[in-house]
Order: sequence, then structure tokens, then C-alpha cells
Amino acid sequence: MTEIPKDHPRYESLLAREKVVAGVKMGITSVQGLIAQGRGESFDYLIGERSIESALHAERVAVAALLLANNPVISVNGNVAALSPEKVVSLADITGASIEVNLFHRTETRVHLIIEQLKASGASEVLGKNPDASLELSHARRLVESKGIYTADVVLVPLEDGDRCEKLVEMGKTVITIDLNPLSRTSRTATISIVDNLIRALENMARFAREMKHEKKEELVKLITTYDNKTVLFEAISEIQEHLKAHAAEMEY
Ligand code: ATP
Ligand code: MG
Repeated sequence: MTEIPKDHPRYESLLAREKVVAGVKMGITSVQGLIAQGRGESFDYLIGERSIESALHAERVAVAALLLANNPVISVNGNVAALSPEKVVSLADITGASIEVNLFHRTETRVHLIIEQLKASGASEVLGKNPDASLELSHARRLVESKGIYTADVVLVPLEDGDRCEKLVEMGKTVITIDLNPLSRTSRTATISIVDNLIRALENMARFAREMKHEKKEELVKLITTYDNKTVLFEAISEIQEHLKAHAAEMEY
């Protein structure tokens, strides 16, 4: 990896970029994953590279859903495995969620390498190697495990693909996504759309989960029943507008 000086003004972003590049070199991330990261970076720029208030709210609600679930599952792809395997493992530990590898550009080698990466980051069991169930999709993301994603009541699918997201919602699951693009089909179809950078979102969620674990069940239920995903997306788009307006104002003379 190229050494990024800690005092570089865009340190976090450049480090994330290096991690995805390293993921490609290790065979964990697909080459297409680089493009996905680039699109994410551009939306992060527009949002101001910070966790906005509405995203923090969605993250709390998502944690409540994971804590209340009977069979919560965190779905991991090549970008997630390259960027923050440790954060996935700690969120899974705190919320009692299972971890399942699920890939669009699936090869058995890549599945194996991602499982090894997650295990090296502390995971004891990772599903996804032996898919014995199928979603109604025509691509490899249909391949799931019956004790994992197939029967999960709550699924966290960071950096998800729009059509699988739709399918999971159709199956009656609570689908949580992390996607910096509030306009993507994924964000528009999910039950809980977190418009935040994956790394910040997982970090925030682990912190919230530690706190919320001790809250009364009724409080968690209330968070979920009063949640409105459309408002969260509206606020994310409005934040981008405001951020752009502020920048435009700086250019005015
Ligand atoms: P959709 O099918 O939902 O419309 P898409 O096909 O346009 O989505 P994909 O290429 O399938 O998008 O997935 C990449 C998505 O993930 C993009 O919307 C991008 O903004 C987002 N993304 C990429 N990297 C990150 C990241 N590090 N944190 C948060 N979001 C990210
Ligand atoms: Mg897509």
C-alpha cells in the first residue's frame, strides 16, 4: 500500500482508496469494486465527508432492528471485506448477527479469501461458502444459505445492488443498506437507508449498539415504528443541496 501521510487533508479518503486497491490485489475485491468506491467517494464529497444527522438517526434505528431481530445477518461483499472487516465483526458480535459472504462477481476463490479475511479479523463463523438456497435473481447474488440470508428477518446489506435489495424487501425482510448515493435504487427500495460512508456508518453503529443493548425493548420498538425512510432520504438530498449552495455562495462576488 502507498504510505499516506497522517497530516494529509484527505487522509481518511485516500486510506480507504488504498484499502480497496489492496483488496483487488489480494483477490478479495473485484476490479468493478474500484468504480463503486469512486462513485461512493463522489457522493461523500457532495455530502461533506461527515455523518449527517439523518444518517445518524437511520443508524440508531438500524441497530434497534438488529438488536430485536430473531435471525439478523450482515451480508459482506468484496468492498466491505477490503474496507472494514474488523468493524463488521465487532458489529456482528455486539448485535448477535451472523455474517454471510454474498458476491455479484462470485468466484469460489474470492469467497474463500473473504472468509479468511473475516476470520483473521476475529470472526468465528462466516456463512456463504455452501449456498443451499436461492433468491429469484438471475445473477450470482441469488446464492444464499438457508440458515443465513434466506431465513433472516433483518439483513444489513452494505453497498448493495438495487435488484437484490428489492428482492429481499419483497420477501418481507427488514433490509438495512449503507449507500452514500441517496438516489440509488438500493437507497430507494431499502427499509432503512443509511446515507453515510461505510467506515463511518459501521463505527457509529457499533458504538450505538453498545449503548442501546441496555435499553428497554419498548424503546427500541418505538424507534422502529416511528421511523420514516422517505424523510431520511429527503433530508440526505437536502443536505447535499445545502452543502452545494454554501459552496456556490463562496464563489459569489
Ligand atoms: P443501484 O443498483 O442501487 O442503483 P448502483 O448499481 O448504481 O446501485 P453499485 O455499483 O451496485 O451501484 O454499488 C455501489 C454503490 O455503493 C454506489 O451507490 C456508491 O455510492 C456506494 N458506495 C461505494 N463505496 C461506498 C462506501 N465506501 N461507503 C458508502 N457507500 C459506498
Ligand atoms: Mg446495481
